[in-house]
Amino acid sequence: MAELLAAYPLLFGALPERPEPPGGGAFGGVTVSALHIVLGDQLSREVSSLRGFDPSTSVVLMMELADECRNVGHHKQKIALFLAAMRHFAAELRADGVVVDYVALDQSDNTGNLTREVERAIGRHKPDRIVMTEPGEWRLKVETSSWERMFGLPTEIREDDRFFASHARFRQWAHGRASWRMEHFYHVMRREHDVLMDGDKPVGGQWNFDQANRKPLPKSVQLRSHKRFVPDAMTREVIELVTERFPDNFGALADFDWPVTRDGALAALADFIAEHLPDFGDYQDAMKAGEPFVHHSLLAPAINIGLLSPREVCQAAEHAWRNGTAPLNAVEGFIRQILGWREYVRGIYWASMPEYAERNFFGALRPLPGFYWNGRTNMNCLRKVISDTMHYAYSHHIQRLMVTGNFALLAGIAPREIERWYLAVYADAIEWVEMPNTIGMAVYADGGLMASKPYAASGAYINRMSDFCKTCRYDVKRKTGPDACPFNYLYWAFLIQNEGQLKKNPRMGMPYKTLATWDDASKSQCLAEANEFLNALS
Ligand code: FAD
Ligand code: SF4
Repeated sequence: MAELLAAYPLLFGALPERPEPPGGGAFGGVTVSALHIVLGDQLSREVSSLRGFDPSTSVVLMMELADECRNVGHHKQKIALFLAAMRHFAAELRADGVVVDYVALDQSDNTGNLTREVERAIGRHKPDRIVMTEPGEWRLKVETSSWERMFGLPTEIREDDRFFASHARFRQWAHGRASWRMEHFYHVMRREHDVLMDGDKPVGGQWNFDQANRKPLPKSVQLRSHKRFVPDAMTREVIELVTERFPDNFGALADFDWPVTRDGALAALADFIAEHLPDFGDYQDAMKAGEPFVHHSLLAPAINIGLLSPREVCQAAEHAWRNGTAPLNAVEGFIRQILGWREYVRGIYWASMPEYAERNFFGALRPLPGFYWNGRTNMNCLRKVISDTMHYAYSHHIQRLMVTGNFALLAGIAPREIERWYLAVYADAIEWVEMPNTIGMAVYADGGLMASKPYAASGAYINRMSDFCKTCRYDVKRKTGPDACPFNYLYWAFLIQNEGQLKKNPRMGMPYKTLATWDDASKSQCLAEANEFLNALS
């Protein structure tokens, strides 16, 4: 034990003292039969890698890895969230008598690299085998799949079954289909998992209540605040560490208040169900300056790192409807995001990688403008959304899709550049969920595998769904000229330039009908203004 305290001073200072492993001495005294690896987004007692764990002969390995913190320059809050949640999870396991070998970020011998840390752990424990749950990123899947050969040790990589649909189930659904539409997949999931069903029929007589969920916020609305989680000593220590180690990373830590334990995440879920779910549906797409969260749940980070299971979140929402405390349009809309979209994008990711990452339907090549990293732009909508992203590591779906994503689509930003940005800046960003949302939904770089048409919109949409335009330097009603809203001429220029690829799409009929009424001079002026604006960006 003394050896261990010397080797892991920070961790033993920060976490409750771990019990002696059964069998005598510390790791060295016992022949460890299995080394169970738990990654930073697998912080669940139900995770498949911990199934069959024998505390008398096995050790859990958890690692804080500098390479993973740095690979896309993640938001400081995102790094702090992962590390704080990992440390709390390790402490909980230890309190239950599990031996956890925890490699802290600032431990002097930590190489910061996943494979090298596993190799070092094998040297420490000499296990007979490795057990882990598959990682949530293609790159790490490739890396871990070489371990068995590299280390000469049986390595059991178990499926991550915290989802409603297994990989095989998604492939089976997708097989032979000309298009993979979320809505159809969602109906199948509802039936299979008996969610919001009345026998074989959807409750309320329809599958989808989206039409009711597009209201702008009333002017006088007073939004209720979300539950905050004041950092405890362990989290504060992590915040200090991140401040010191990653001073130049994107974002601020001052507003860090994410739940970092299962108890915290359950409290966040209860608060959402009671306070926000009833209004979630009506104002799901609404945006308001100074109100980045509206009635959204803020649960994605907790679900994605394993503190909450998607099933229990859906069950809690359905329960609220059955109890009469939340209306069906809200509950169905919320459940669709998890049982539908979340499962569907995961299916797309694993069925289409690694080539999916390189998709570029429009051949967009423009570098990401610098204002994505500092918010310095005169476009009020972008300035507000990016500034909130810096403060909270959060934007809700419409802010991501119809403001930052819409701009990237219209401006022809290279898909890989905007995709790396989304992976870096949000606390909930993990590649399997972020990449299809960006490549497929936001910038249509997959040419329609996910979305039936590009989510392209002019300033009119942002004006309808937010109050951003009221205080903007640009005029949302103007289509051309120095004061015109850039989203307007960029939108029409996008349609003109991509007419060959989009005109035949039946869902693009309306805007192309309008464009057909334009004369050549108007089209040329629109293209010239868009070019001038875009050239000034770089
Ligand atoms: P709510 O609006 O309260 O929704 C409830 C839950 O539904 C979320 O917590 C989330 O688990 C799930 N969900 C909602 N929409 C989606 C979706 N489109 N895909 C998958 N799950 C969804 N979500 C992530 O979890 N990680 C990401 O890295 C991520 N990147 C995105 C990038 C872009 C360009 C876009 C357009 C969307 C992205 N999303 C991502 C989806 C969605 O925007 C976030 O899940 C949501 O904003 C998280 O906030 P919330 O928890 O308050 O969600
Ligand atoms: Fe954004 Fe245009 Fe509205 Fe300004 S006028 S906030 S740029 S949509």
